[in-house]
Amino acid sequence: MQHKLNLYNTLTRKKEVFEPLHAPFVGMYVCGPTVYGEPHLGHARSAVTFDVLYRYLKYLGYKVRYVRNITDVGHLENDADEGEDKIQKRAKLEHLEPMEVVQHYTNIYQKDMATLNAKSPDIEPRASGHIIEQIQMIQEILENGMAYEVNGSVYFDVPAYHKNNNYGKLSGRIIEDLLSNTRETEGQEEKRSPLDFALWKKASPQHIMRWPSPWSDGFPGWHLECSAMSRKYLGETFDIHGGGLDLMFPHHECEIAQSQASHSHSDAARYWVHNNMITVNGQKMGKSLGNFINLSELFSGNHKMLEQAYSPMTIRFFILQAHYRSTLDFSNEALQAAQKGYRKLMNGLRVLDKLVYPDEPATPDEKLNEELLKLAEDCFRGLNDDLNTARTIASLFNLLKKINSLYLGQLPLGALTRGTFDTVRAAYTELVLDVLGLKEEPAGDLEEMLDLVLGFYKEAKENKAYDKVDAIRAELKKQGIVIKDLKTGIDWAYEE
Ligand SMILES: [Zn+2]
Repeated sequence: MQHKLNLYNTLTRKKEVFEPLHAPFVGMYVCGPTVYGEPHLGHARSAVTFDVLYRYLKYLGYKVRYVRNITDVGHLENDADEGEDKIQKRAKLEHLEPMEVVQHYTNIYQKDMATLNAKSPDIEPRASGHIIEQIQMIQEILENGMAYEVNGSVYFDVPAYHKNNNYGKLSGRIIEDLLSNTRETEGQEEKRSPLDFALWKKASPQHIMRWPSPWSDGFPGWHLECSAMSRKYLGETFDIHGGGLDLMFPHHECEIAQSQASHSHSDAARYWVHNNMITVNGQKMGKSLGNFINLSELFSGNHKMLEQAYSPMTIRFFILQAHYRSTLDFSNEALQAAQKGYRKLMNGLRVLDKLVYPDEPATPDEKLNEELLKLAEDCFRGLNDDLNTARTIASLFNLLKKINSLYLGQLPLGALTRGTFDTVRAAYTELVLDVLGLKEEPAGDLEEMLDLVLGFYKEAKENKAYDKVDAIRAELKKQGIVIKDLKTGIDWAYEE
């Protein structure tokens, strides 16, 4: 393989050359959404980041199994072990079955991610479909002495685990600090230590989502599903575990603990990869802060903070023009710049399409060939350096300058060798389309374009320029559109 991908591994806190456990196979697990509300920019960032990683790994020739879960049970309101299940709460508000809520928001999530051109994962398992696997994992942890049962609930015993392991190895948290900063809160009396977390919760009588288990009718703790499902589909140890930085603690720390304390005895993944958060004017984006923008609002422009609608590819470009480990600050200016940048890259594709390598090339200009090959190679350097799409986009723009010069005749196309020409074209088109996953969006609105043409038609008719009138009619007919001269004016219809 020509390119070496380096990834920053949160677990080791350094960039490492990516070597899969069983090349050419790669297993990648990414934490998916809790489906109780519409997807927002934060969901998009995680999905697009790992989509590019997935695409690039495939581009490098790996056979990737990409698993991204749907959390449809067990994620409680405050992200800890208290409060109501997020989905059950929503279901009550909307007078729906919890699984109706799940299906509704799963559909929207999948549709929005497809709109952003993020490929579907190879497996998209749901927590509620893997209760048996989760119960089995709890049993293993109990057998290994790192969990305990109280009143039908089972808790992970963090201090017992920490004796021979390191709770905090992923997040860098120190268990003593965590202990001194954690207060005993209501509903937590069952826990021996405030750091312990639920593996199984006994359901209260009004709790709808419940399953039988050896301990009680209840439901699994939130962290457990990812351990159980990643193991089921990718094995006890697999290559990459991804997710948003907000999931690193406690969610991913607990996943590692569960995996180590079960019969897997492993950190689950060898490379833990985290994308950073979206901020709004430097502030964290969050439901409680009221600075929250759903993807449907971005696409329609229908939100008080938006000056205009932004197309899905503009959003995708906006996400990609920052490195995934940096925070990404939302603003209208940044999105408008992204719109320009995206269009510039697309124009490059159009120019490349029109460039035809001459039948009789000139003597190759060695310096020019070298320069262009280097620029093409640079485009991969960013990606290989911890998936730095920001650098890759900057390199693509540098390459595009030369492509435009070739197109305008400022540089002699014939002085390139056929090999250089093909390499440049392949690098640009494959990176833009296949790896960054950008695609052409229709330019403008069909109705508005037709109105424009009908204006010309009307003008030609008034000027009795009948050859022009006929030509416009004929051209539109080729597109399956007929012009109707009505008493009330000129209109169009699809040809029947
Ligand atoms: Zn997860």
